[in-house]
Amino acid sequence: MQDGWIPLQCTDCGAELEYSPADLPPTGNEFTCERCRSTRPVSEFIQTQEGLEILESFHG
Ligand SMILES: [Zn+2]
Repeated sequence: MQDGWIPLQCTDCGAELEYSPADLPPTGNEFTCERCRSTRPVSEFIQTQEGLEILESFHG
């Protein structure tokens, strides 16, 4: 994983995505899958604790 990029996986369509934290909302907000348009809390897309920590520290 490239430093500063967050791996995401959609639990509805299985899409594996990678986003910069600048392109994601703060944790607790909703995010829409670019493939199937499913909307869920962004934390449900983030598969790793490290990813959550990157997002939380980015939005501070
Ligand atoms: Zn999806």
